[in-house]
Amino acid sequence: MPSILDSLPTLYRNLFPSFFQGPIPAETKATCSSCAMCEAANPIRIESVDGVNRFFRPDTKCCTYHPRLPNYLVGAILSDEDPAMAEGRRRIEEKIARGVGVNPQWIKAPTRYNLLYSSSRQAFGRAEALRCPYYESKGGLCTIWRYREAVCSTYFCKYVAGADGRKFWMTLKTWLTLAEIQLSRYALLQLLPDYVLKGKDKADAATVPLTIEDLDDKPLPEKDYAELWHPWVGREAEFYRRSYEIVRALSSDEFENLLGLDGVVELSILKRLHESATAPKLPKSLKLNPSATIQWLPDGGIALASYSEFDAVALPGAAYALLVEFTGKEPVEAVRQRLREEKQADLHDDILVELYRHRILVDAQAPQQ
Ligand code: SF4
Ligand code: SF4
Repeated sequence: MPSILDSLPTLYRNLFPSFFQGPIPAETKATCSSCAMCEAANPIRIESVDGVNRFFRPDTKCCTYHPRLPNYLVGAILSDEDPAMAEGRRRIEEKIARGVGVNPQWIKAPTRYNLLYSSSRQAFGRAEALRCPYYESKGGLCTIWRYREAVCSTYFCKYVAGADGRKFWMTLKTWLTLAEIQLSRYALLQLLPDYVLKGKDKADAATVPLTIEDLDDKPLPEKDYAELWHPWVGREAEFYRRSYEIVRALSSDEFENLLGLDGVVELSILKRLHESATAPKLPKSLKLNPSATIQWLPDGGIALASYSEFDAVALPGAAYALLVEFTGKEPVEAVRQRLREEKQADLHDDILVELYRHRILVDAQAPQQ
């Protein structure tokens, strides 16, 4: 089983707490090289709703997202001289040269992109206009994969541990985002202290109304840009590389201090979720989730989905008659006994765990799932 660290940039290996050396099941359902959300590789046909094709485009996959790269990861990309990173480096250099969304803390999405992203519907995985600038559409590959940020490191379209897996990875994203914010601020404090001391690292929220520069995807007016970067203007690449060196030199104790109490709390939540994602416990009584969607398949089977429209479970059609027996009124073992006596059928523990993880069956005692 891979470790959690295996999913993250190697820079973090000596920095993150020992918990990250622990195992996490490989997300084998997210078959990225033959994308599980694209029509060609999909075993279950996902029906169109409102005329929208449910499959992802092969030339975007799930990379209809613009990452927010912290300064030290930008520096790591620029410092990696491996020829395999040449295209990623080139794209980052191009970004810096254009100067849009480029500041001492991040290289982030242009404001116009953010507006399009937040105002679109059913566009994730399907809109060319939202394709990531680091995505190589011909090969279907990420050109900066070794240094991908919090969102890209933790997103999967399907999870081996279903809803529990999604919760784990999303909480890891929260923790990683905190780490990215604090590490990038730490580098800023060494290289450009006024940026933090004058609160410019908190200026992210002001994205509306859009300026003329925003609408045309143009950089800030020259004077504003120079003020933002002073005294590093013209030496942005060097600034990013130095940020990387600063973060690389941190010890794990110093890193822990940077994360403070918020880091401790998030890590404790993460540890709990890790347990449910790796060692699931079946509740005493289960009921068929009334919110689960059921789709009959052409071969007579059924596809059931609940926690995510992207992750359905396929079962033989006959299984439905067994599932409806789970009403939550009696313990799981009693239902199984009755099924064996009355229907000469059973649902094995592994199947029940899978259905529970996908929240097709839910804990009858829990208030809401
Ligand atoms: S995670 Fe993305 S690339 Fe991988 S299989 Fe899912 S949609 Fe495709
Ligand atoms: S950085 Fe890479 S993984 Fe993230 S959205 Fe872009 S191409 Fe996809």
